[in-house]
Amino acid sequence: MNVEMTTDFPLPPHQAELLGLPTFERGWVWLAGAGPGDPGLITVLGLHAITQADVILYDALVNEALLKLARPGAELIYAGKRGGKASCKQSDISRTLVSLARKGVRVLRLKGGDPFVFGRGAEEALVLARAAVPFRIVPGVTAGIGGLAYAGIPLTHRDTNHAVTFITGHGADGKLPKLDWASVAKGAPTLVFYMARGFAGEIAELLMGHGRRGDEAAAIVSDATVGKQAVFVTTLAELGAAAALSTAPAIIAVGENVRLREGLDWIGAMGGKLLAPDPLGRNALDEAG
Ligand code: SAH
Repeated sequence: MNVEMTTDFPLPPHQAELLGLPTFERGWVWLAGAGPGDPGLITVLGLHAITQADVILYDALVNEALLKLARPGAELIYAGKRGGKASCKQSDISRTLVSLARKGVRVLRLKGGDPFVFGRGAEEALVLARAAVPFRIVPGVTAGIGGLAYAGIPLTHRDTNHAVTFITGHGADGKLPKLDWASVAKGAPTLVFYMARGFAGEIAELLMGHGRRGDEAAAIVSDATVGKQAVFVTTLAELGAAAALSTAPAIIAVGENVRLREGLDWIGAMGGKLLAPDPLGRNALDEAG
């Protein structure tokens, strides 16, 4: 009885059919995003892929709880580059994807967040395209969006920002990417950085050197969306020192929208924190009137 329940979980075939989900065909590679950490944040299509795949190649930032939903007998291959486990070269991963697909199995390449956001998914997909291996992209909730939501920081709010810039703090050569920092500083009021812990001090200097205020709010959201999530709110001037306090994967957000956390830290509220009713101090007059 239990066995039947597990084979039917989480997506009984009729549910997949009702939703019109595609069949995972043999010889295909699906490049899917697993979301930022909380297993509940994977998409329905991503979950469907996990339950159907013959082989799953997964990254360090994928929550391993998701792998428990793989079919019995599915092969699970760790292809991450951190966490003390053996590291995999990007070219090896791409080559493995091609050779597995050519064997006629259903290959799931599972990545943290979204596969097309700072995750080399496009590079892997291009190798597949060149090898004429058919593939599908399954988007995921990227850490810069889902992670901030779990920190109670809205990506946008009409009173703080009408635009957002996503930036990687880590170029292909391991250095800070060569960006036009004057334009970055003057562009979107909210900047969201991935892989920027190591260069946070330099980034803050560049931004302040191009006109951003040292007292501007900044947040470091580590291990976002999982139990050990930690949110450190600071200022641009203090960002470098704050970022050096830990090595956990983090999203760094810079902008006045960070201040909304005082009113929107819903996880803190579950633990008894009182939320500020007007974190930007903008509605006091309206309400008084
Ligand atoms: N494709 C991923 C990003 C991969 S780059 C995505 O869309 O989210 C890896 C970087 O993403 C990390 O260095 C960190 O900056 C960020 N990141 C991924 N998961 C995270 C998490 N749970 N908490 C905080 N940052 C995370």
